Amino acid sequence: MISIREYDLESLKEEMKRLGYPGFRGEQIFTWVHKRGVLSPEEMTNLPREIREKLEVGNMSLETEKVSQEDQTRKILYRLRDDHFVETVLMKYRYGNSLCISTQVGCRMGCAFCASTIGGLKRNLTAGEMLGQVYETNALLEDKINHVVLMGSGEPLENYDEVIKFLRIINHEKGYHLSLRNITLSTCGLIPEILKLADENLPVTLAISLHGASDETRGRLMPINRKYPIDELIRAVDYYILKTHRRVTFEYAMIKGVNDSAGEAHLLRDRLQGRLVHVNLIPVNAVEESGFFPSLEKDLVKFKSILEKKGINTTIRRELGSDINAACGQLRNTYHPAKVEIVQRH
Ligand code: SF4
Repeated sequence: MISIREYDLESLKEEMKRLGYPGFRGEQIFTWVHKRGVLSPEEMTNLPREIREKLEVGNMSLETEKVSQEDQTRKILYRLRDDHFVETVLMKYRYGNSLCISTQVGCRMGCAFCASTIGGLKRNLTAGEMLGQVYETNALLEDKINHVVLMGSGEPLENYDEVIKFLRIINHEKGYHLSLRNITLSTCGLIPEILKLADENLPVTLAISLHGASDETRGRLMPINRKYPIDELIRAVDYYILKTHRRVTFEYAMIKGVNDSAGEAHLLRDRLQGRLVHVNLIPVNAVEESGFFPSLEKDLVKFKSILEKKGINTTIRRELGSDINAACGQLRNTYHPAKVEIVQRH
């Protein structure tokens, strides 16, 4: 069986030729799957039956879904072929539908505030499984997903080759043709891969999970900081900006009494001042296992104003769907079919 989502256009044409069919059949299949969003070979009406019988589109099934009563954020859990689960979060904004997808099953980066890392890394997702999260979710909606954020479970840059393949396919003009400007890739800061990404000519919005302004604070929250300290990380960000001319976002989870002091804000200000960056302050979702709690409102406001006084563009972003554990890894980790109140499909 040819699992179509795993193929880019050229390799699909090659595969058709290898099987003794004309290459244009590959392009027809690519268009059906990536542009028209069909979920079954049966819908590819301009293809001979003998080709359709060799094809497979779906690579996951919808397992369960939770819908936030606060803001209609939807958290969707997919079951992969090997019975691993992968989660996807759909957020509705004024500008459209934004989908946060996972790039790995679990994660080995060990960030202290993150539920995805609790069971460690199970495996990388394939490009086709990343595309599957977009296409399967798209099929549930009346309007199209027009922003994709690689910020669910997993460290995207640790799964570099498959993530790059995903970006090239989803951006392909004969397929879904999602603008790279509408894609955000979030990383905990793998410096060699940030430098490599800068040279790919794929100018996605880069988001850096920072969460601490000193190596001491960040190192406590994010073990990766011991390998790639903040000064070096910011130098890599400078290179990314130089090559892509894109503004880089720094994500900063505000954790009460841990990283939200005025001193930390001053240090962050000194590090980022004068750069083409944006800071997102996100009051952390309480994760039972971690014992972390969101910062107080007054501390959030003060932190923001310290950054803004030096011209650093800063927003306070509320976590969407906090009533459904929308932070990454939380649904997968708490999932038990008997326990979750869900909208069950089929
Ligand atoms: S925050 Fe991201 S990199 Fe860190 S453990 Fe969670 S999924 Fe992995």
